[in-house]
Amino acid sequence: MLHVLVVEDDDAIAEPLAHGLQREGYAVTRVATGQAALDEPDADLVLLDLGLPDIDGYELCRRIRARATTPIIVITARSDEVDKVVGLELGADDYMVKPFGYRELVARIRAVSRRATAPEPAGVQRVGAITIDRRTRKVWNEDAEIALAPKEFDLLSLLADDAGAVVTRQQILEEVWDPHWYGPTKTLDVHVATLRKKLGHPELIETVRGVGFRLAVEA
Ligand code: CA
Repeated sequence: MLHVLVVEDDDAIAEPLAHGLQREGYAVTRVATGQAALDEPDADLVLLDLGLPDIDGYELCRRIRARATTPIIVITARSDEVDKVVGLELGADDYMVKPFGYRELVARIRAVSRRATAPEPAGVQRVGAITIDRRTRKVWNEDAEIALAPKEFDLLSLLADDAGAVVTRQQILEEVWDPHWYGPTKTLDVHVATLRKKLGHPELIETVRGVGFRLAVEA
């Protein structure tokens, strides 16, 4: 049974929604604040209202995405927020603008969860919105392929080997460049900057000052 976490502070929306989804055969947990959403164990899918009383919806969406690949459908009352949501800066999988039709929502939930549960071929790794295929050395941001230079791919692949863990500058230089690298390390920063730009999710590669870099996701 698919477990849906409904994060919505407005009872008039959340209650009929929760009942409807239960009738549809989903297990539903309802919370009314961002903090309660973060305290919940990972659901199979999150319906997330952006206008919550405690935590900014954008921030919450990023935080959920940073710790899990759980599909997120954002619910917003403001159509002017849609650009930001659709730009996937938030890491959301889909969105609905209030007021929305219940049937449409169920259709979106089905589509998003189908995508999320499709088996991934061996050698393919998903990191947030980024997909890495080590066999073909190809990388995608959502469905769009990203052209990476060989060193950029090696750098991303190395960080993704242990997503969430810090990889030191020296380790990266030795493994991606040369095992006896003693030269200037500025070249590493240049590559990181380019990689961030190309991935379209600059926050994905986190600088750990004085140490190195990490992919800002849980393994
Ligand atoms: Ca709200």
